[in-house]
Amino acid sequence: MKLVEKIQNAGVVGAGGAGFPTHVKAASRVDIVIANGAECEPLIHKDYELMVHHAERVVHGVGLLMESTGAKNGIIGVKKKNEKSVEAFESATKGTPIKLHLLGDFYPSGDEYILVYEATGRLIPPQGIPLNIGAVVNNVETLYNISRSSEGTPVTDKFITVAGAVEHPVSFVAPIGMSYKDAIEVAGGATVNDFAVFVGGIMMGKLETNLELPITKTTAGLVVLSVDHTLVQRKSQPEKSMHRIGKSACDQCSYCTELCPRYMLGYDVQPHKVMRSLGFTQTGEAIWNQYASLCCSCGLCTLYACPESLFPKEACDKSKRDMKEQGIKWSGKMEVEPHPMYEGRRTPLKQLMKKLGVMEYDHPSEFIVEMLRPEKVEIPLAQHVGEPARPIVRIGEKVKKGQCIGDIPDGKLGARVHASIDGAVKRIGESIVIHHE
Ligand code: SF4
Ligand code: SF4
Repeated sequence: MKLVEKIQNAGVVGAGGAGFPTHVKAASRVDIVIANGAECEPLIHKDYELMVHHAERVVHGVGLLMESTGAKNGIIGVKKKNEKSVEAFESATKGTPIKLHLLGDFYPSGDEYILVYEATGRLIPPQGIPLNIGAVVNNVETLYNISRSSEGTPVTDKFITVAGAVEHPVSFVAPIGMSYKDAIEVAGGATVNDFAVFVGGIMMGKLETNLELPITKTTAGLVVLSVDHTLVQRKSQPEKSMHRIGKSACDQCSYCTELCPRYMLGYDVQPHKVMRSLGFTQTGEAIWNQYASLCCSCGLCTLYACPESLFPKEACDKSKRDMKEQGIKWSGKMEVEPHPMYEGRRTPLKQLMKKLGVMEYDHPSEFIVEMLRPEKVEIPLAQHVGEPARPIVRIGEKVKKGQCIGDIPDGKLGARVHASIDGAVKRIGESIVIHHE
């Protein structure tokens, strides 16, 4: 069986992003395979632990992907500060053509456009993907899963970090479908009574208060914060009020643009101009919206750059949505040339964490090696880009960990899902609920 089929059978999807089915990427022809080990979300350390404990798996995954895509070059991007993971890779890549690229501790060094430029010197064309410059990029956990898929092991578990206001921050391997509540219990529970959870991280994650929701193939971690924390307060504001404040208070200082990592890399993203779409009517928002199209939603403008604590990132999100709804295509400049200050104006992660008010939670977290077995898992059928998986089990049916329970609908883009514990199927809807027996 070819690698592409093995990856498809195992239900591997991009573990570091929206969950794009990996078998599609593995079927492309490129000359560089890049492993993304940058992990720049504050307080999340699960990729670090994966790289320290499973560097050989990641290197094996890169090698397999090089073979299947015809790539001559393999590069692993990892932060220089993470000495243990660098050492693990130095030993695992010995005798292979795979090279390490050491990254600085900046946010967001894991953005694909930035990582590709840092690792290869190539610039992805505006609105393009790494394939356009002959590269595929995969998160290190995806490569770990590719390696396991080659031995017939499906994706049933997820490396996650639980951090923030918890008794002891931890990273561990969670069965897919484990509830946030159970995951927070692994970290000893919350240290505050009223809290909310940033799912996936405080910069690019979603704020959630429903603790019954499940860990999926793309959940990087949970950051627990008190409802009084500024980040929770800011994120909880209704979108309308974010834009109303922006409309009246933005003084067009342009700091948001001057610190925007995509703008600094040479792309025409200008959040201060996007802010004009909220209030300037004479020129028309269709003009200002254009400056949002190449934004990667990293959140730096809203949470770090703006001296008025406004919401330029959210204005960019709105502009992108409006353009899509109105069927307006991006028509900006195609030439990309890094800003002369690109090197000097990057945002150090420590500096960012100070500004975010999370330094008190920046401890090394424990890594729990043993596999956990919750009493119940709820496995969503849509954890990936494309069509939801089609259930292939019945209520009451006994299933084994690793058994396929949801298949890809015929001829569609999608990913299989598998049982993450032994048990019996109790409910089938948008998710499949399995109780341990
Ligand atoms: S940094 Fe804030 S105040 Fe300045 S232009 Fe951007 S949104 Fe407006
Ligand atoms: S969220 Fe803001 S800083 Fe980040 S890419 Fe978009 S405009 Fe730039």
